[in-house]
Amino acid sequence: MNDYYAILGVERNASPEEIKRAYRRLALKYHPDKNPGDKEAEERFKQINEAYAVLSDPEKRAQYDRYGTAAPAGGGIGGVGDLFDLFEQVFGFRSPGGGRAPRGEDLEVRLGLELSDLLHDGEKELEYDRLVPCEACGGQGGRRQACRSCGGRGTLEQIQRTFFGSMVTQVPCGTCRGRGYVLSEACAACRGQGRVRRRERIRVTVPAGIEENQLLRVSGYGNIGPGGPGDLFVRPEIRPHPHLVRQGANLVYELRLGLAQAALGARVQIPGLEGEVAFEVPPGTGEGEVFELEGHGLPRPGGRGRGKLQVVTRIEVPRNLPKKARELLRQYAQEVGEEVAPEGFWEKVKRVFKG
Ligand SMILES: [Zn+2]
Ligand SMILES: [Zn+2]
Repeated sequence: MNDYYAILGVERNASPEEIKRAYRRLALKYHPDKNPGDKEAEERFKQINEAYAVLSDPEKRAQYDRYGTAAPAGGGIGGVGDLFDLFEQVFGFRSPGGGRAPRGEDLEVRLGLELSDLLHDGEKELEYDRLVPCEACGGQGGRRQACRSCGGRGTLEQIQRTFFGSMVTQVPCGTCRGRGYVLSEACAACRGQGRVRRRERIRVTVPAGIEENQLLRVSGYGNIGPGGPGDLFVRPEIRPHPHLVRQGANLVYELRLGLAQAALGARVQIPGLEGEVAFEVPPGTGEGEVFELEGHGLPRPGGRGRGKLQVVTRIEVPRNLPKKARELLRQYAQEVGEEVAPEGFWEKVKRVFKG
């Protein structure tokens, strides 16, 4: 014997309001849509509905209180269809099998950012288009008429034969695509769609150090459907910087050095995100060496400090040196014992190649 009061978790003297509240809470929690494939939840949902069907009806409740059973002959509650009817009565919408007004679609927009925008949390304005209810027809799409194929229910019953016997399931009506109505006259403003495109302008907060794969969700700013708005997703797109390349929270800078700078060392200015950073290249610096300047990178997510500015050296070998510089290099070569081609050698080679 089922204790309906225990199933709903209420006292035996609970008021109709208390019973309804308890039912609302439990029916939503154990609804099959929220627990797909969960047999236990489905069983609970059935019990909750059975308990509510009895306790919400004063006559049935009185009989249950007196005899411990409600309407033995044909009382109780039947198939799954009945369960959802009850659910619909209490909640005003029908969750399974269509019928519930759909939420608007989610949207995605791109937000162009500069590297320097990532240094601090910031607000950015962006414009985009979304679908909103048409004002001319109040979102109705025109004059509505109940669908004759489904009698306005939006669903048709379909009998499925299975190994265990026949099963009645609800399928969306093809004529009205589950809406329960057809348009006898379409609205001219929205061509019967019930929605029109509108330009929106909003401000979004962009957290410092955001990554390109990190979408920002703005709840309720997607397309607006009959069941409410979808969400807007903002995809950050960081524009290339003329000098710096981003790698996570680090920034990479290619420092071009002349031969003499590489050999003798140099004082240079690195164009960081917040202005120039003084840097000293040590003597004898080679190609592709990496120097790291802590704290000159981008903020790490969650306020965990800042990344590094990585300086990568590129040694530039001079071409077309003026005569004086060539002579000095020759002197240098002689001094350190490097054998070099004699003056004019390569011009001769070129002449030979040309024929
Ligand atoms: Zn319209
Ligand atoms: Zn229909």
